Amino acid sequence: MKVFRKNELLFPRRVRKGPQKGELIWEPLHHQRVLQVVHNPRYAGAFVWGRRKGRRLPNGHTAVEFVAPDEWISLVPGAHAGYVTWKQYQANQQRLLENAKAHGDDRRQSPPREGPALLQGLLLCGRCGDRMNVRYSMHHGGQQVPTYLCDRDHTRVGAPTCQSLPGASLDEAIGTLLVEMVTPLALEVALTVQDEIQSHLAEASRLRKMQVERAQYEADLARQRFMNVDPNHRLVADGLEADWNAKLRALQDAQERCDREHAADRAPLTAEQRARVLALATDFPRLWRDPKTPPRERKRMIRLLIEDVTVNRGDAITAHVRFRGGSTRTLTLPIPLRAWELKKTSSAVMTEVDTLLESHTPGRIATILNQNGHRSGDGRLFTRKMVADLVKDHEALKSRYERLRNRGFLTQEEIAERLGITPDTVRTWARHGLLRTHPYTDRGQCLYEPPGEHPPRKMQGHKLTDRSVLS
Ligand SMILES: [Zn+2]
Repeated sequence: MKVFRKNELLFPRRVRKGPQKGELIWEPLHHQRVLQVVHNPRYAGAFVWGRRKGRRLPNGHTAVEFVAPDEWISLVPGAHAGYVTWKQYQANQQRLLENAKAHGDDRRQSPPREGPALLQGLLLCGRCGDRMNVRYSMHHGGQQVPTYLCDRDHTRVGAPTCQSLPGASLDEAIGTLLVEMVTPLALEVALTVQDEIQSHLAEASRLRKMQVERAQYEADLARQRFMNVDPNHRLVADGLEADWNAKLRALQDAQERCDREHAADRAPLTAEQRARVLALATDFPRLWRDPKTPPRERKRMIRLLIEDVTVNRGDAITAHVRFRGGSTRTLTLPIPLRAWELKKTSSAVMTEVDTLLESHTPGRIATILNQNGHRSGDGRLFTRKMVADLVKDHEALKSRYERLRNRGFLTQEEIAERLGITPDTVRTWARHGLLRTHPYTDRGQCLYEPPGEHPPRKMQGHKLTDRSVLS
């Protein structure tokens, strides 16, 4: 590209759409164009078909993307004269691939590793488009609980985690979706698509057969010429014989290539194979739900069916699922409750928490609940955080702060203003019992009872320890 730029060379491009469609224009060479050319096997003299395929996007548009060379439907190296040899082309591809690995971000699908997270390597972040990682935490009871997180920049440059979401409920929802989708009807459609692909293969195969026929024709012609020559013309006969041999070799090559590629094509499904595929659909839900099916197998199945899943965590979790066949589904899941909340806290506990919040902080409430013999839904002792989360997650439970505010209690700033003193003095007076406080956290944050008819006043010269309005 630099050489082209330096020498002010232009590169041709065929206009594909618009008013100039079909015209050839000359323009400066761009990086993108260089890549197009070096990746295109046509410049190495090969005939290729099926390099690109369209796929449906979640928004209904179609994107055309290149498929890996081993998925090309037809490839005939040496079909015509090339600018580089097929060997050079392959060497170039290898080098480009290595360069991409060295410089590009690794966005390939990671293999299904051990661990139960079903969507490992299939999950794309809906915010930044990166592939998401999985992290396991040990649940008490020895179970691995997966969390999906987009944290590439976090690991690389220490940026904050882009987003993270609990894996268990997402895996579960995707599993349910699969069981719904993999029905005999859905597979019937898939088989029809397969038939369609088969007809393209037949076309490619027909082209290859034509090449063999042409080679055969030329070989026959050469033979005829050799047979017809007067044996006395030794030189002419020798030349024709060599030509005939060359043509025969070409025929053999063409025939071999044709056979080889024909064998590589997927053979059409037999009636028996179709029946087995359809039987799998009936069997799939059972296999999927069977607790004896190892996670590795489930992950393998999910990879056969799903291309990728794009997730976004907002008020809820949205997951765009792209199936291999091209269809898409969108799931919306509520942000799941914390693990210990999945097992519902008993209503007796909820009622007691509701009462205790009137006069106690979360930490104190946890202690009281435990003393009274209550346990969480999954049989654990309550902690301050568990009580705080319970309040946060249940709208019916008003927070202690809210309750105190409703009772007319004041913040430090409010009471300072009301009494015409500084917030510092408020704290000092509270410490000496001149103001009554009500804590709403276990870290000493509190609200102040309104001072009433006879508020404390500033009395210089009197020791605070000697004063007590409240006692
Ligand atoms: Zn992200």
